Order: sequence, then structure tokens, then C-alpha cells
Amino acid sequence: MIEKPQSQKKFSSGDPIIRQGDQGDCAYIIESGKVSIHIRHNDGTQIYVGTRGSGAVIGEMALVDKSPRTATVTADEDCVLLEISREEYERRLQSADPIIKTITQVISTRYRDLITRSHIQSNPNIGPTAEAVEQGYIEQNNIVEVIKTEREFKNAIENDELRLYYQPIIDLKTKAIVGLEALMRWIHPEKGLISPAVFIPIAEESGLIVQASKWALREACQALKRIEAATGREEELYMSVNFSSNDFAEDDFLDTLYTIISETDVSPKQIQLEITESLLMIQPENAKRTLEMVQKAGLKVAIDDFGTGYSSLSYLHYFPINTLKIDQCFVRGMMSQTTNLELVKSIIALGKNLGMSIIAEGIEEPEQSDKLLELDCDMAQGFLFARPLPEKDLHELMINWMPHKD
Ligand code: C2E
Ligand code: CA
Ligand code: CA
Repeated sequence: MIEKPQSQKKFSSGDPIIRQGDQGDCAYIIESGKVSIHIRHNDGTQIYVGTRGSGAVIGEMALVDKSPRTATVTADEDCVLLEISREEYERRLQSADPIIKTITQVISTRYRDLITRSHIQSNPNIGPTAEAVEQGYIEQNNIVEVIKTEREFKNAIENDELRLYYQPIIDLKTKAIVGLEALMRWIHPEKGLISPAVFIPIAEESGLIVQASKWALREACQALKRIEAATGREEELYMSVNFSSNDFAEDDFLDTLYTIISETDVSPKQIQLEITESLLMIQPENAKRTLEMVQKAGLKVAIDDFGTGYSSLSYLHYFPINTLKIDQCFVRGMMSQTTNLELVKSIIALGKNLGMSIIAEGIEEPEQSDKLLELDCDMAQGFLFARPLPEKDLHELMINWMPHKD
């Protein structure tokens, strides 16, 4: 399910944001500006509680229960606030890790008890230390960044700001380009090119990745047709596309996959799904069933970043897998550390015994390439051969690719 990102609210200096006694149904995170908080007593006197600035959360008790607002919050200057509705908060809490959910609920209830016992009103010295408040603001500031990125990413999909770059996958024996990995980029209208290392985790957290993955699969399939036409290599190359556990959790994942493959008219055997070990471990039975269907439809399955996830290798027998991609960290350390070299050797031997092909990632040095060939690794991907490229540059690279022309 795709979450609607929080909405942004603007207030001018002097505007009331929250009124004591009102029924609240949302909290706010201050993106910019300052607000002041006052509590009105029964005798009509007002007590100044404090000022809050960028990164602070206000009105958060409305997320905990349905009691009336206990303070009035006014904009001291022009403010931009991110609204978090109770409904959204509860939805996110429901889908949270059970430990996080339980602890959050306990803390929320205690927090509410503390407030209703009027500790803060009667004794301003009781409360969190200055360091704790400061630390809280730092964490909240990070949250603001994440929420902002999430909101902008939603627009990125709608505004056509996503792009795919393609990194060649090389046959180590012939040095021919045999496949391509599609890697997402975000061309932000102000910030320019944003790395997937920044936006993919946020897209996964918010669920927006599902929409992005669908876009990426369709775009990659269409690009494959264009690349084939430009290089004259019909039905020879394969395209590897990254998927997240959110994608697999969708009821219509397989339907969407089949529809895009058939609509773009690519051959299923030319498409490879890249997934991580952790995806397999979240719901092993579901993942197994889905992957069996994927393979039955003729597509290939690769395990990405192999070796970094779960130490148990026994699961490899359990899942239908065509390809292992050895993580770059092992390749990087392979020439200097024997443990890494031994690991690479074992992964290649293990994969081969199970009838899988092996791709080594992150090859930057010719010595690494030579060593991997010696170890009987099938394919390689890395800056030594080519960086991920936009489609136009890739056409050019492939047309001029000498090893293939030989
Ligand atoms: P990944 O799937 O492991 O992709 C390989 C990453 O290694 C890419 O980073 C690539 O540029 C980089 N790389 C390739 N060769 C070398 C090398 O020789 N040296 C070094 N240092 N790096 C190399 P990139 O494009 O920044 O992607 C980062 C990660 O973001 C990907 O890691 C993948 O986990 C994720 N990602 C990218 N595109 C997508 C997507 O469409 N969907 C999903 N779910 N995740 C994606
Ligand atoms: Ca990958
Ligand atoms: Ca990888």
C-alpha cells in the first residue's frame, strides 16, 4: 500500500496553530519558524511554557488519545509545519515491528499520565534534561529530512524525475557484455542527481518503492528493446531489475510483473529479478511460492549482495535461484585478505554445485578480474568495465565495445 506523505501547513506570525481545549487529531513537526506554547489556568492566567523551533514536535498528545488540547500554540514568526494525522500515525504504528509498537505504546501512555498529573505546569524543573531535549531535537531534525525527502519522492514519481542508469554485466571469459543492471537515479529539480543509497531506504520505509519498482520494470523492459535495436543484439542480452520486500508483499505483484513483460513484448528469459537475502527471510514460504511462479514464467532470479545477509547457507537449496551476486565488499578485500578470498572461493563453489551462475560485483582492478576468472566465476560487474550509464551513453559504449566485436 502506498502511504500518503504528510501534508505541509503554513502559518503567519501571530496565527494560532493549536488552541487549548480544542479536540486535536494531529501533531505537527516544525519544518521552519518558531512557535510559543502557553497554558491557560482556570482563573484565566496564562503560563508561558516555552518556545519551539525547527525539528520540534508539537501537539503530539493528539496521537496518543482523544483528549482535548492542553495548551495553546501560536506562531512567533512565519512557520512551515508538517502535519501528522492520528490516522496516519496509527497506521504506521500498526505496521511497525512488534517490539517498537509495544514500547511506543507504553511510553505514550506514561507520557500522557505525566502530563495529566500536571507535572510540567506545577513544577517546571521536572522534565527532561537540556541534553535530552537537545538530542531529541537532533533526532527530530533528521526525521524532518526523511519526511521531506519522502514527500518529494512522491512528487518525483508523478513529475517524471526518476531515471534508470544501466551498468553492463560482463562475461569474464569473453569480456562480452551479456547483461545490464538497471539502477535508479532521482534527478531532483533543485538538488540534482540523488543516489539510490539515499532515497531507496526512504522509499521502502514509506511504501512508495512499490510504485517506483513498477515504473522501473516497465522502463527497463522498454529500454531493453531500444538497446537491442540500437546494437543489433536481439534476444541476446538480459536486464536485471532490483526489487524490494515491499514489492513481494503486494497481492498483485505477479500480475503486474506478467502484464508489464507482455505489454513491453520482451522475452521473459531476458528479465532477471534481483532480490536480497533478507527479502527471502521475511516470509520464506511466500517468497518461495512467488519465486517458483516467477521461474515458471521463464524469468530469472538473482540474489543480490550475497554473503552480507544471513550466515546460514542452507536456505539456498530451498529457494529457486538462478544467480548469486557476490557482494562488492568481498571482492574489494579479496586480493589483500585471505579470509575474503576463501569466502569468494566458497561462494563460487557452492553456487556452482547448486547449478547457479555467479556474478562478482564491484570489480575495479584487472587483478581482481583475472583472479575471479581463475576461480571459475562466470560474470562480473564493476567500474573496471563500465560505470552505470544513462541509456544514450550505453548505446554508444555497446556499439564501440571491442571485446564483443571480436
Ligand atoms: P546494488 O543493487 O548492489 O547495485 C550495485 C551498486 O554498486 C550500484 O550503486 C553501482 O553503481 C555500484 N557499483 C558498481 N560497480 C562498482 C564498483 O566497481 N565500485 C564501486 N564502489 N561501486 C560499484 P548505486 O547505483 O548507487 O545503487 C545503490 C543501491 O541502491 C543498489 O545496490 C540497490 O540496492 C539500490 N537500488 C538502485 N536502484 C534500485 C532500484 O531500482 N530498486 C531498488 N529496490 N533498489 C535499487
Ligand atoms: Ca542489485
Ligand atoms: Ca549488489
